[in-house]
Amino acid sequence: MAQIIDGKALAQKMQKKLAEKVARLKAEKGIVPGLVVILVGENPASQVYVRNKEHSALAAGFKSQVVRLPESTSQEELLDVIAIYNADTSFHGILVQLPLPDHINEEAVLLAIDPNKDVDGFHPMNMGRLWSGHPVMVPCTPAGIMEMFKDYHIDLEGKHAVVIGRSNIVGKPMAQLLLNKNATVTLTHSRTHHLAEVAKKADILVVAIGRGHFVTKNFVKEGAVVIDVGMNRDENGKLIGDVKYDEVAELASYITPVPGGVGPMTITMLMEQTYESALRSVNR
Ligand code: NAP
Repeated sequence: MAQIIDGKALAQKMQKKLAEKVARLKAEKGIVPGLVVILVGENPASQVYVRNKEHSALAAGFKSQVVRLPESTSQEELLDVIAIYNADTSFHGILVQLPLPDHINEEAVLLAIDPNKDVDGFHPMNMGRLWSGHPVMVPCTPAGIMEMFKDYHIDLEGKHAVVIGRSNIVGKPMAQLLLNKNATVTLTHSRTHHLAEVAKKADILVVAIGRGHFVTKNFVKEGAVVIDVGMNRDENGKLIGDVKYDEVAELASYITPVPGGVGPMTITMLMEQTYESALRSVNR
């Protein structure tokens, strides 16, 4: 039976340490990390995410601000707001909550954020830094998964890692982070032939597709480490992962549950990266 990777406990441990680091930074250098989250429109899921981010930022001792803009906000108006926070040195992290309304070009918005404040790691410059092997700001979900490997002493060097899903926010940066740690990486997607066979070769299997219980025991080699990024609702509205947990847990050596696995680490890494950005600002 697999050992559970407890993301909730690790996130709590990291957040406690972070609050201590923030207090020290304030006492020694007079700097308070600042995070602004910009939300356009009324998307209910986004509102919950933004509230959670605000809550975590305040718990860490940050200066926290949420800018709520109406659905009708034009792209130019949004870019003007971003420019204000790019120039404001009391903010070290700027996050524009996605998705944006259809009339706003997401790429133009992500490009407008100062890469030094891009705590989500979505700016092309930060993507490029990651791909060239010199990451600075990294998308928070895969960054959180790397912290899990570290905390559980899961060695990646020379291992075969298979990532299912190639989104810019999870799959692609995950593959690159694994490669940077000397894993041999296979990045798969909806057009991959014989996916179960490919996945079954993995020592490390990361699943980020968004299909409830898609990955069954037929995808998993005995002893594999299985990371489930998926967040889906079943027919009763219950939160479930992309992995069929009960049967895969019997085969795997380590597994992340849903909920309580990858999810809590994502927001923790957002706070960590804001803190790191504040630290770097001292030397700029
Ligand atoms: P996404 O942008 O929709 O990308 C999904 C990826 O999965 C795509 O690359 C797609 O392939 C691939 N895929 C879809 N169906 C597939 C299939 N049948 N076989 C193989 N590959 C398939 O999703 P995402 O943003 O990466 O999110 C993935 C899941 O993680 C979602 O459930 C999301 O809610 C969850 N998530 C959780 C967190 C967290 O903090 N826990 C954070 C982010 C996302 P193609 O590219 O070929 O279309």
